[in-house]
Amino acid sequence: MVKCSFCNRRAVYVSKTSGKAYCEKHFLEYFDRKVRRTIRKYRMLTGHEHIIIAVSGGKDSLSLIHYFSNLAKNVPGWKISALLIDEGIKGYRDEAIKDFLEVVEELKVDYKIVSFKEEIGLTLDEIVEKSKKLKLPYLPCSYCGVFRRYLLNKYARIMGGTVLATAHNLDDIIQTFLINVMKNDWNKIIRLTPVSRTGLHAKLVKRIKPFYEILEKETTLYAILNNIYPKHTSQCPYAVLSSRWHLRHFLNKLEEMNPGTKYSTLNSLLHVLETYSAKENVEQIGSCKICGEPSSHEICRACFFKMKLGLLNSQDFNG
Ligand code: SF4
Ligand code: ZN
Repeated sequence: MVKCSFCNRRAVYVSKTSGKAYCEKHFLEYFDRKVRRTIRKYRMLTGHEHIIIAVSGGKDSLSLIHYFSNLAKNVPGWKISALLIDEGIKGYRDEAIKDFLEVVEELKVDYKIVSFKEEIGLTLDEIVEKSKKLKLPYLPCSYCGVFRRYLLNKYARIMGGTVLATAHNLDDIIQTFLINVMKNDWNKIIRLTPVSRTGLHAKLVKRIKPFYEILEKETTLYAILNNIYPKHTSQCPYAVLSSRWHLRHFLNKLEEMNPGTKYSTLNSLLHVLETYSAKENVEQIGSCKICGEPSSHEICRACFFKMKLGLLNSQDFNG
């Protein structure tokens, strides 16, 4: 039995990079210290915030809402709400919503569920079917990501949020970084900051990633130890089609062979972001000509996809 490095209890977690072992109590303290340090280091929050937690119903976002609902008990100026986007993925998101409802009801957190069906006009499953019929490229994750980000910002604002917190962990961040290095898409890489730029558009809600420096296995263990690990175990049926799926397994293998690989990849990203922000000429973001939401092009990506899918009619173009 491996013992905790700080007491005599049984260890539930061993950090291969530091060599330290943690029992349940000391792991939860370590986790808390690490998240607080991330929030402070990147100046994510002030003493007065309405924090909207973007929740998918997966372990990371359930951990985030659990963590913040506890933290907020000691900060009188904070209000916490949850926002879930239901993309409409049969057998997957509908199951995750049950886990989400159990957790928010137990924690007594206000929440809102917004669906693709009501807001975009079709579920993601229907979008995928329609795109096939229209012979558009097969891109479920692109449709999903664009519409989800669009609705998260729009509804975080409608709910009166001052900040939108997402549950991206260190693994997610470095996967996105490496995917975009491979695609040579530097516009996406420079958006991988722990806190989004503010003041670019009045309708853009500030975004923060409090788990930026937390490993996926640590958010998983936090969820297990707090009894909020989702009951649904199914994977999104579209996930295997994405390069992220393969990269995730590859990075986990590399980390096994060379502990510390993930942290050093994150440090490389932080170096890129620092170098870039020193040179960057920040421009204001305009408004989409169709929906009025923030967009760096004349028409935002969500309206562009809706047009391709035949989901906009002529009066939308005049509005
Ligand atoms: Fe959406 Fe792709 Fe994630 Fe599935 S795997 S939830 S389609 S982004
Ligand atoms: Zn638009």
